[in-house]
Amino acid sequence: MDAKQLSQRLATVGAFVQPGARVADIGSDHAYLPANLALNHQISYGVAGEVVRGPFENAQREIQKLGLEDQLVARLADGLAAIQPEDQIDTVTIAGMGGPLIRHILEQGPAQLAGVQRLVLEPNVGEATVRDWLAANQFEITAERILAEDGHTYEVICADRVTHPVTYTPAEQLFGPFLLAEKSPVFIAKWQRELQRVQHAVAQMQQAKVAPTEHLAAATAKIKLIEGVLTDAGK
Ligand code: SAM
Repeated sequence: MDAKQLSQRLATVGAFVQPGARVADIGSDHAYLPANLALNHQISYGVAGEVVRGPFENAQREIQKLGLEDQLVARLADGLAAIQPEDQIDTVTIAGMGGPLIRHILEQGPAQLAGVQRLVLEPNVGEATVRDWLAANQFEITAERILAEDGHTYEVICADRVTHPVTYTPAEQLFGPFLLAEKSPVFIAKWQRELQRVQHAVAQMQQAKVAPTEHLAAATAKIKLIEGVLTDAGK
């Protein structure tokens, strides 16, 4: 993978960035995503934010190598601190991190998010906590994708700022409102695997001398939700 040929995962994130957007890609590593969008004239400006020096230098090198200095800037910063007011960022992408870290990054930057209309997020795990944050902060999920690549399953969530309240049921939060409605084969396979994993965890918890009551209750509730969805899908 490089800026000219993105993975299917990053290409899916990029597909939700609207033409002419001013995008900040947080945790950009080599800046492949914003560089690809700039090369394809899909964005008018981009910031590649990185908190670690090595990846930040990778991003700088990539931008220079591709001659994209007029449209892209790499910044060494923690999370949304990479965004400056004059950037006029309207879209933030965060890909390839756990959901709790994505949520933490979003929570740390209300000022930088003020002008942001669209978030495109690809949490590797813990998608539900991201959806919970989106609803609580009036970002409505407008599209979702689930895909399998190189033995991993990825979910991409696109959310737009709205002025009305946003709420998701526990099932929508866990599975994703669009993914739940679609129930694709990749989705079914993911939740069949997850069901087995949680059932195994519950069996182990039940054998413990002192059963962890809260964890057990949460896992049992999750099993019920997954079983309900798989039964609905006839699986
Ligand atoms: N976004 C790219 C992708 O999806 O292929 C790179 C993902 S890489 C697994 C995660 C990157 O996020 C790392 O380069 C890491 O240094 C960066 N990162 C982690 N926490 C961050 C934070 N708080 N602010 C900025 N970057 C962060």
